[in-house]
Amino acid sequence: MAEVQGSSAYERILVAVDGSEHAQRALEHAVQLAKGLQIAPRLTVLHVNPVMMVAEPPLGVDVDERLDEEGHAMTEPYRTYLDTTGVQYEVRYHTGDPATVICDTANEEQMDLIIMGTRGKSAVSELFLGSVSHKVIQHAHCPVMTVK
Ligand code: ATP
Ligand code: MG
Repeated sequence: MAEVQGSSAYERILVAVDGSEHAQRALEHAVQLAKGLQIAPRLTVLHVNPVMMVAEPPLGVDVDERLDEEGHAMTEPYRTYLDTTGVQYEVRYHTGDPATVICDTANEEQMDLIIMGTRGKSAVSELFLGSVSHKVIQHAHCPVMTVK
């Protein structure tokens, strides 16, 4: 069994954000948790743009540049909020399948915990858990905290 060493067990925390109120609450939980830990962890705030290319982009459009601008704008409010908290963080944005990228990032960078909302932006169905949360809980190699 993996050894959990007191409050220093969460040194690196990944927070998955999609612009929803649920994700904002998840981030606020992460900040509260971070502030309460003896050893201040580093938060990695990650947004994944689930790009689906159906056609060739119009001539003259630099897709990567466009995605970069989008990612930057999308994560701006998170930066503004986090700057007020004094918590150590970095913000990232990637493209791909959100759950896969979240799990891969957590894995590759040896995150100790993933924090995310139970639901997200498209909280329309009656299901308790969104598909991204569901898939991350299934596939992550570290603990996952979901915030209602
Ligand atoms: P669904 O997308 O399955 O219709 P939903 O939008 O209500 O349902 P999820 O997408 O699973 O639910 O969202 C749950 C949580 O997962 C969000 O609060 C957020 O923390 C995280 N999440 C969802 N999408 C992304 C994304 N594209 N990038 C990063 N994190 C995400
Ligand atoms: Mg969603």
